Amino acid sequence: MAQRKKKRPTWDDYFLKLAMLVSERSTCPRMHCGCVLVRDKQILSTGYNGSIPGDEHCDDIGCLVVDNHCIRTIHAEMNAILQCSSHGTSTQNATAYVTNLPCTNCSKALIAAGIKEVVIFSDYHDSMAEDFFRKAGIPLRRIKMPGTRINYDIKSYTSAKEIKKKK
Ligand SMILES: [Zn+2]
Ligand SMILES: [Zn+2]
Repeated sequence: MAQRKKKRPTWDDYFLKLAMLVSERSTCPRMHCGCVLVRDKQILSTGYNGSIPGDEHCDDIGCLVVDNHCIRTIHAEMNAILQCSSHGTSTQNATAYVTNLPCTNCSKALIAAGIKEVVIFSDYHDSMAEDFFRKAGIPLRRIKMPGTRINYDIKSYTSAKEIKKKK
């Protein structure tokens, strides 16, 4: 029992681990990024870097590179904000959990969307995000990367049963 309790993630680890899971849906081979917007420990939205809905994927037809950046995808943070906007959910005072340091444009969008804190575990090249966040008074917390393992073990729960394929 004690061992199982040990695996319970902190809130920070929980939301960042979710951001990592979300990033698995990314469609650009140059970058897999995930973002989870959270307020009062509740998830408002999630986003990963992917093409405009209905557009082709970098994974299928290659990247669209301009000035050494792939510009085909909408970034994870932007998609998380846009998901809120399309559902009429306020992003005011939310925390952004992001796998990477946001790029310059995303940092500006997060600030303008009223995000009050940003939590990341890995960095990103060519970003002015830190300067923009500092100027806006938004704390940027870098924490240790959460474990990449999902500790769901159906076999150790006696009342759970795996669905077996019928023959
Ligand atoms: Zn791409
Ligand atoms: Zn970005």
